[in-house]
This record gives sequence, structure tokens and C-alpha cells, in this order.
Amino acid sequence: MCKIRERQLDFTGDLECRACGQSQETQIDILNECTTLHINNSTKVTQQQLFTENTTTLKTTLKKIQDIMAKLEETDTQRNRSRQPSNNGRRLLADQGNRMMN
Ligand SMILES: [Zn+2]
Repeated sequence: MCKIRERQLDFTGDLECRACGQSQETQIDILNECTTLHINNSTKVTQQQLFTENTTTLKTTLKKIQDIMAKLEETDTQRNRSRQPSNNGRRLLADQGNRMMN
């Protein structure tokens, strides 16, 4: 569903969160715990919201996830621009992995 590093089996780099760069980029970090992606609780996705059978809640949850992923891609691009050249090789591998997943 989401391009989260933890879920990319062919991802060879570390799992450092692309947004905060501190915690591991796991589903729980991205959806709920990341302090860079979530300034307050309104953008967080809880386990209940993720696994609810209420379609109205599910729609809201999906919208939140789309917003989170957009923000994650955005911060990733910003970080890439300031990245040192020595990291390009690893980055390239990760991007190839992304393309295979799409
Ligand atoms: Zn994070």
C-alpha cells in the first residue's frame, strides 16, 4: 500500500526515516509516531482508524495516509538535494527498488 522502507524487501540501505532521520521508517513511525510528519494528533493514523470497518472513518484514514506519504516524498526530495555525493550510489539503488515496486 505505502512505499515505506520497512516494506521494501529489496531495499538495501538503512531504514532511517526519510522525514525525521532519527527513528526507523516503520509503518508505526510514519503513520503515528514521526515528530516531523506529525506536528499534532490530527494528522496521526491510529491502528483503530486503520483497521476499522466504518467506511467513513476509512475514507478519512486513506486521505490522511495520502497526505502523510506526500509529505514524506516531499521531505525526501529536500533531503536528497542536500545529500553528499558519496551517498548517491546507495540512493540510486533505493530508487531502482522503488521503480520495481511501482
Ligand atoms: Zn520519522
